[in-house]
Amino acid sequence: MSMDSTLRDLKRINEKYRMFHAMTEDLEPGDSSFLFSVKDNLTSKDMETCAGSRILEGYHPAFDAASVEKMRLAGGKLIGKANMDEFGFGTFSTNSGFEIPRNPYDLDRACGGSSGGSACAASVIEDHVSLGVSTGGSICCPASFCGVYGIAPTYGRVSRFGLIDYGNSLDKIGVISQKAADLKKFMEVIAGRDERDPTSMVQPEFNTAYRKMKSVAVPKEGIEGLSKEVEKAFNDALEQLKSMGVDVDYVDMPSLRYAMPAYYVLATSEASTNLARYVGMRYGHQDGDHTLKFDDYFTDVRTRYFGDEAKRRILLGTFTRMAGFGGRHYAKAREVRQVVINDYKKVLADHDAVLAPTMPFTAPKFDDISKMSALDSYKADYLTVPANLAGTPHLSVPCGYDSDGMPVGMQFVADHWNEDVLFSIAEDWEKQFDLRRPEVSI
Ligand code: GLN
Repeated sequence: MSMDSTLRDLKRINEKYRMFHAMTEDLEPGDSSFLFSVKDNLTSKDMETCAGSRILEGYHPAFDAASVEKMRLAGGKLIGKANMDEFGFGTFSTNSGFEIPRNPYDLDRACGGSSGGSACAASVIEDHVSLGVSTGGSICCPASFCGVYGIAPTYGRVSRFGLIDYGNSLDKIGVISQKAADLKKFMEVIAGRDERDPTSMVQPEFNTAYRKMKSVAVPKEGIEGLSKEVEKAFNDALEQLKSMGVDVDYVDMPSLRYAMPAYYVLATSEASTNLARYVGMRYGHQDGDHTLKFDDYFTDVRTRYFGDEAKRRILLGTFTRMAGFGGRHYAKAREVRQVVINDYKKVLADHDAVLAPTMPFTAPKFDDISKMSALDSYKADYLTVPANLAGTPHLSVPCGYDSDGMPVGMQFVADHWNEDVLFSIAEDWEKQFDLRRPEVSI
């Protein structure tokens, strides 16, 4: 769909792919220099913002998130708020309180999570850029399942002002697009220190000059447990990288094995405190029985409007922080996080990036996802969570297709503030990669 498409086309595309929870009501050809969408956990003045949760139904924020504000100032028009897992809790965007986005390559399959609607929009709408948010892989995972490019920048690069928090020490806003060049272009738009978010950092500017990627390290821990087809596509991509003049070394990064459990302890600890504000007073539905005792009232609202996964994470995160257990779980997980950072620092001292497939399998069918336990789905994140724990920038590129035609992605992880080398490899890769666009029909 190009800039000249009508609102009617956009609505029909949305009926089929279900990428947007809320949409613009006016779309005139040529009324802005570019169209964009954002994950629905970024606030926007003109559209409802629910972060995938029924508890926020009807919430119309009075302000734009910093990143939305910057995209508008750059001449962009916000056309949609993208469907997502409730508060970002998921790997397939199936934990949404609203619509579940459909994979552009096969409607019976998931888009990945939790920025599934964003990746779907970037894949099916031409000339489109979508902002996603990653806590533990939610930009690269859906980018890989939907066959597009996605970057999660260094933690602190982009202001989290106006972002509905999942895990404050992990959340990062980034860019998803069909075109590698868009990642750099729009990261430059949204990056920068913002006084309204104390965790946004004074930072080195993006080095806009081309910086060739000369070497990558492939961790042995990053190529275990892959599906046969992902393994084959990844090995072919490694050969291709070598022919592009990139040295490929195999390394050991033992801490990667512990990143997934540490991540789920830290992420749920932070999430459980963040969700405490949704009790039907200042935030959340207020339709409970006001004659109840306050904690009965809170319980009633939360029971009715939180989804199962949000409840599970409140329980898990409350447990990991509990007096007497915090030291055993939360403190331990923080130690693991430091070891993961040290491992990246060590390997990235000698290599431009750490490289592995983005996800161990291609987009699964909804039927198969419904048979997975919560733990199965957490385990699927073992390749994306380490870089998120470390706060290092990471970028996923499409690198092949399986025998059903589903996209495979690979993820490059660079050192803090080194996004430039990621942008350059993505553009080099795009020049020689035979991208197969999905057939988009309405
Ligand atoms: N799948 C991971 C989780 O459920 C990551 C999600 C995210 O980055 N928001 O926590």
